[in-house]
Amino acid sequence: MSMTADYLELSDVRVEFDGFRAVDGVSMTVLQGDLRFLIGPNGAGKTTLVDAITGLAKATGSIRFGRSDLLGRPVHRIARLGIGRTFQTASVFEELSVLQNLDIAAGAHRGPLTLLRARTAVPATVEEALETVGLAAHRERKAGELSHGQKQWLEIGMLLVQNARVLALDEPVAGMSADERQATGELLHAVGADRTVIVVEHDMDFMRAFADSVTVLHAGRVLAEGGVTDVQADPRVQEVYLGT
Ligand code: ADP
Repeated sequence: MSMTADYLELSDVRVEFDGFRAVDGVSMTVLQGDLRFLIGPNGAGKTTLVDAITGLAKATGSIRFGRSDLLGRPVHRIARLGIGRTFQTASVFEELSVLQNLDIAAGAHRGPLTLLRARTAVPATVEEALETVGLAAHRERKAGELSHGQKQWLEIGMLLVQNARVLALDEPVAGMSADERQATGELLHAVGADRTVIVVEHDMDFMRAFADSVTVLHAGRVLAEGGVTDVQADPRVQEVYLGT
């Protein structure tokens, strides 16, 4: 049986706050294996767009992942469909070990729906996740003792054991050392090979080094989209970023 890759498809997505359109008709498609960076000035609507995908913000339009319609579903249902999210401040259980954090994440996912999802994808085991995110040597350490970067990787590991097929990451390398940035970029490529990854990012060097494709948001709309080189050369993007 041939299987079509799942992809995330947004069509004319809008989010309003008291009549103000924070996201104003965004359409975009992110394929599996495409490491997509979402950039744009402060207030462009990046966070709100990710909130719409993950169910935190009420949106109109259409948001689909594979055959599932995400729009209007509660946050936990969207998570169960394989849409995972990290925030700038990693939310790990600081008093528990790395292993315990992963066990809890894996346990939280077990349930009737796991069987349904297993037809298309199998969640990473805790051991696989430890290896993938490079924390195997730290398995017994308290999460609270990890570096900022390691906490971010642990959180990504927690999404992997929950069988996340889409990972939306909010400024994953903010506050990281150069080595951690490099490791994170490589990690995102590894996990993104058979998943859909969206990275909200301000760090342009990181974007240039690791993005497969870029969507530039400005005032709630898509200003430009494409490969890194083309997007950077786009005069509209330069105007927004440099004010020229
Ligand atoms: P970005 O992530 O690109 O910096 P945001 O998505 O955070 O942008 O914000 C987009 C716009 O929506 C901003 O003008 C912001 O002030 C506004 N906004 C975001 N969240 C809310 C909210 N809960 N209520 C009202 N306005 C909001």
